Amino acid sequence: MTAYKHILNTVFASLIVAGLLGSGSVFARSDELSLVDGVLPADVDGSCYREAFCVHWKKTKTGVDAWLEALTAQPITILFKTTSKNLEGPVRDEPIIMDKPGITQVFRLRKASAATWEYGFKYYYHPGRPDQAKPDPDFVYELPFAKGKTYKVTQGFNGSTTHKKRESYAVDWNLKVGTPVHAARGGKVIGVSGSTSSQRRGHGNFIWIEHDDGTVGWYLHLRQGGTRVGLGQSVNAGDLIGYSGNTGKTSGPHFHFQVSMTVSGPNTWKTVPIKFRTSDGITGKIRSGDRHSRPN
Ligand SMILES: [Zn+2]
Repeated sequence: MTAYKHILNTVFASLIVAGLLGSGSVFARSDELSLVDGVLPADVDGSCYREAFCVHWKKTKTGVDAWLEALTAQPITILFKTTSKNLEGPVRDEPIIMDKPGITQVFRLRKASAATWEYGFKYYYHPGRPDQAKPDPDFVYELPFAKGKTYKVTQGFNGSTTHKKRESYAVDWNLKVGTPVHAARGGKVIGVSGSTSSQRRGHGNFIWIEHDDGTVGWYLHLRQGGTRVGLGQSVNAGDLIGYSGNTGKTSGPHFHFQVSMTVSGPNTWKTVPIKFRTSDGITGKIRSGDRHSRPN
């Protein structure tokens, strides 16, 4: 009899998987185990993060292994947090930086005694390498919607719902599904996905634009088929890049924007303070309930 529990729960930029398995009688000694990169066994379970990377895992009666698969040469930093009970074996618990397609083993855990074992992991990721961005505090961003349009901030900086801690400098505006989204700052498109219709988890369809100071603009919850840029494309501030939507974990249609950077801290990334040009002047105080108009 095998008790088996599987929870797949993506919160913003993380994934939690938990398993319980309580049978079998072969125990491994952790000093006999080592991580093996470059190989992915057959019959793995997995979850791919769009076109950027996949996390694979494989459970057997004696334990569980996990691997990270990078799909592109775009540098990305991924940090796993693994918890386990009655399992032994090597775990990569430092940030993993992937910058070419390939496989890295994240953990190799085997049961340590006849008792029930369990494990769980979640991960954090951000494009780029830790601490390389040098955010320009004086840069003035354009509001990421069409000239002459006015939208209300539904969650500002240090917002009460989700814009806290590493996400303190994110902004939500009340854009309806299908509203044009424009680049807030020029740069290079390093991530783009418009394929999902899911409204259950994660940040849905998105565009990542890397700026010349190394920071990355995140344009989230775009509608299915609502991206108008391609990977590697250069964009200028003000260019039309897509259409807002209601994909990913949302409480209704809105558009989320943040500028963030990779850090070597515990969650791999943080948002950075930014300011916008509005028809009422330049402001870096973005409060819930404010209305912003983009100058003509
Ligand atoms: Zn938000």
